[in-house]
Amino acid sequence: MKTPSPFTDTTTALDRRKFFQILGLAGASLTLPRFLSAATPAARVVVVGAGFGGATAAKYLSLWGKGKVQVTLVEANPQHLSCILSNLVVTGALGMADITIGLEALPSKYGITLVTGRAMSVNPVARTLDVSTASGSTSLPYDHLILAPGIDFITPAGDYNAELTPHAWVAGPQTTLLRNQLAGLKKKGVFLMNIPKAPYRCPPGPYERACVVADYIKRKRLGGKVIVCDANPGITAEPVNFGSTSPAFSPTSSSPEPSAWRTSPSGWKPSPRNTESPLSPVAPCP
Ligand SMILES: Cc1cc2nc3c(=O)[nH]c(=O)nc-3n(C[C@H](O)[C@H](O)[C@H](O)COP(=O)(O)OP(=O)(O)OC[C@H]3O[C@@H](n4cnc5c(N)ncnc54)[C@H](O)[C@@H]3O)c2cc1C
Repeated sequence: MKTPSPFTDTTTALDRRKFFQILGLAGASLTLPRFLSAATPAARVVVVGAGFGGATAAKYLSLWGKGKVQVTLVEANPQHLSCILSNLVVTGALGMADITIGLEALPSKYGITLVTGRAMSVNPVARTLDVSTASGSTSLPYDHLILAPGIDFITPAGDYNAELTPHAWVAGPQTTLLRNQLAGLKKKGVFLMNIPKAPYRCPPGPYERACVVADYIKRKRLGGKVIVCDANPGITAEPVNFGSTSPAFSPTSSSPEPSAWRTSPSGWKPSPRNTESPLSPVAPCP
């Protein structure tokens, strides 16, 4: 299974108008925005980040700009590593290749100039973006700038060691580290994870992880469990799927206990034998 690519044009004229309006580039005609008249030189748009946000913006600006928009896309990595489906890489159901998206189509199919490098600073007065690349620094002039770098993991204060306890909330080496740790989980082993206080990236992501890891433990008949320390008072996303009505977390045949328990700072403490919910609070976090 591959992460779906954003590089296929399935859009309509209405989408085009909305798209240019959202980007603040609209005049807005259904074809080209007003600033793109035949007399004006091609507008230079620089996009930072080739994730789903940046790559999609770059693609449609180039596609709908019909040669009147010159798009440069700056991406720190040679390929995009997608967080989407990365929980399945943690359980070994998918490989890293399944969540790695090549960027070749952006220049070859859509005429986008791809710069592999890290955007370092913006000069909004001179309208330039400074980029650090393998061959040195470069300054890219722009008429319009789109920043789509996603969000980074905020390292907790204290002695947190991401090598020993990988968070895997950014796809890449962290995903591999966590996959290896799960693969090494022994019988009756415990997978302990936390969910930060909202807002955080992808509200269902951590609950999804708890579910797929619990499923992994069950299928491997390890008899272990998942303990989720949730900083939120309730399940923050898809409570029907992840809450008490979900059938996904019934006790395994090899273990009378639920595969996954959710603990909460709220102090709600049902019995440890509670089999009602896959993610029921059972105890304060260790
Ligand atoms: C575990 C997990 C599971 C998820 N599952 C789903 C799901 O099933 N469905 C769903 O819709 N969403 C899911 N999400 C959320 C999804 O990953 C994000 O919403 C999405 O990735 C946001 O896209 P983006 O383009 O804004 O940012 P990103 O995907 O983070 O892309 C940003 C890009 O910018 C680049 N970049 C960053 N800084 C710079 C810089 N200074 N210079 C150059 N390049 C830079 C990065 O290398 C990266 O390629 C999940 C998230 C996680 C963590």
